[in-house]
Amino acid sequence: MNPLIIKESKFAAIVDWLSRKLFKQETLGISLLFLIFLRVNKNKDEADDTLTHELIHWEQKKETWIWYPVIYGIDYLIGLIRHKSFVLAKYRVRFEQEADQFENDRSYIASRSCYRWKSYEI
Ligand SMILES: [Zn+2]
Repeated sequence: MNPLIIKESKFAAIVDWLSRKLFKQETLGISLLFLIFLRVNKNKDEADDTLTHELIHWEQKKETWIWYPVIYGIDYLIGLIRHKSFVLAKYRVRFEQEADQFENDRSYIASRSCYRWKSYEI
């Protein structure tokens, strides 16, 4: 099963607006269940990086199923306790570390090993 990709999404634009207001952070894409929402009105490379980032999350979700949000939440809480920063806690989530590291590598998903996200430290 492949995710449904929604480009130039109003939902992604709203999430981006909220993210900028609350966390002073840009959010170009968000994935929920089997949907990927992209706020793609930037240059092509940035749009491709965002899509690759979200597709890496898709691979992680296929490995973890319903446990994805649970693991994400636990990682976030551990990161928050360790780093005492809401923004840094998000970047330290193991799913995010893998997606951030390889979002500009278009061949990564094809060669990715299962559960690669487990190799990161929160
Ligand atoms: Zn992400």
